[in-house]
Amino acid sequence: MTPVRIDIVPVGRIAAAVVEYLQLVLPETLNLPCRLRHATIDIRRAYDDRRRQYRSREILTQLADLDEADEVKILGVTDVDLFIPVLTFVFGEAQLGGRAAVVSVHRLRQEFYGLPPDEKLFLERCEKEALHELGHTFGLVHCRRLGCVMHFSNSIAEVDLKSSTFCPSCARRLP
Ligand SMILES: [Zn+2]
Ligand SMILES: [Zn+2]
Repeated sequence: MTPVRIDIVPVGRIAAAVVEYLQLVLPETLNLPCRLRHATIDIRRAYDDRRRQYRSREILTQLADLDEADEVKILGVTDVDLFIPVLTFVFGEAQLGGRAAVVSVHRLRQEFYGLPPDEKLFLERCEKEALHELGHTFGLVHCRRLGCVMHFSNSIAEVDLKSSTFCPSCARRLP
């Protein structure tokens, strides 16, 4: 199914600057229109009392349920800290070849690491993680190339190492 559009869905409270930036930059790389969509996502259902974090899988399920068809890609953007059971946290998660993806900006700010704020760096990281998770919805798996945005990152240093572009072989598999 040919994707026609990307819908950005704010999940919980999220800074308007993040959503606006993603709306601006994602179409440049993915060649798809990108719009803001307001939908009711119940993040309390994803909350884990013991870990004090949010289950990304639960949020993904709710996002995927917003639509019937895969031609609209749904990107949830949240400021809450996400996890999957086997990892201490995730920057995001996506349905491989599916319609839903979610990214968390929680650990993308310099302040999270005790450093002075850097808005430009923060927004670049948001862009990388959004492109990475959307790449998964287009069926892309993790890429060996260090600079490719599909390279796996489980630390902020790894996010900063990769670029915000797809390597040629990943790019060929995009719509
Ligand atoms: Zn990934
Ligand atoms: Zn690649």
